[in-house]
Amino acid sequence: MHRSDLVAFCDDVLASSGSPDYAPNGLQVEGRERIAHIVTGVTACQELIDVAIDLRADAILVHHGFFWKNEPAPIVGMKYRRIAALIKHDINLIAYHLPLDRQPEFGNNAALADQLGLTERRLFGAQELAVAGTLPDSCTVDDLTARLTEVLGRPPLVVGPTNRPLRQIGLCTGGAQDYIGDAAALGLDAYISGEISERTTHVAREEGIVYFAAGHHATERDGVRLLGDRIASQFDVRVTFVDIDNPV
Ligand SMILES: [Zn+2]
Repeated sequence: MHRSDLVAFCDDVLASSGSPDYAPNGLQVEGRERIAHIVTGVTACQELIDVAIDLRADAILVHHGFFWKNEPAPIVGMKYRRIAALIKHDINLIAYHLPLDRQPEFGNNAALADQLGLTERRLFGAQELAVAGTLPDSCTVDDLTARLTEVLGRPPLVVGPTNRPLRQIGLCTGGAQDYIGDAAALGLDAYISGEISERTTHVAREEGIVYFAAGHHATERDGVRLLGDRIASQFDVRVTFVDIDNPV
């Protein structure tokens, strides 16, 4: 397929135009025009780029691309090596950040909400990015810990009151721990995100809400993987999801 058709499809299915973000969404580094093989992954780190080169991929599609707000602009060091490798091998880098978190059918937040069986979903928090919903049954902190361990392949770090029953849950994947205050204000029993800050523990304890730090990487694999599945089902291209492990 042509690169511009791939980007147009992603822009459309992710409704990416115009939403404020911390990095540009869409084509970030230009490579060859014809695309037959796409490598997908969470982050455009050097290891993912090296795998894409080995697989002779034409494009890399990720959740965490380049050119973040407030990062140093000069293309030197690690940033140079990554961009140089892409350009040398004529590989496109395509990235979608918040649009891939919020896509309501298969985005990172929807995918995690599906795995937990959340119903009566509603959005909350800054930019209406986080999802609140109701678990199928009331459960214990241990039950939800076990479920998250099962679906994400790693145990969460849990802080806050550990003896309260859980039914109303909020979640936002990645580094969205600071939505915990919004989740507490809604009266939710628990809030799940990827990362945790020192302050998060105190908010959880003092607001009486259980917080699950389930892993930034672990909670953000599904959106880009499912986007890749959609692309492969609609176009004549091969899509390979590559999981570069990250314990955070
Ligand atoms: Zn993220």
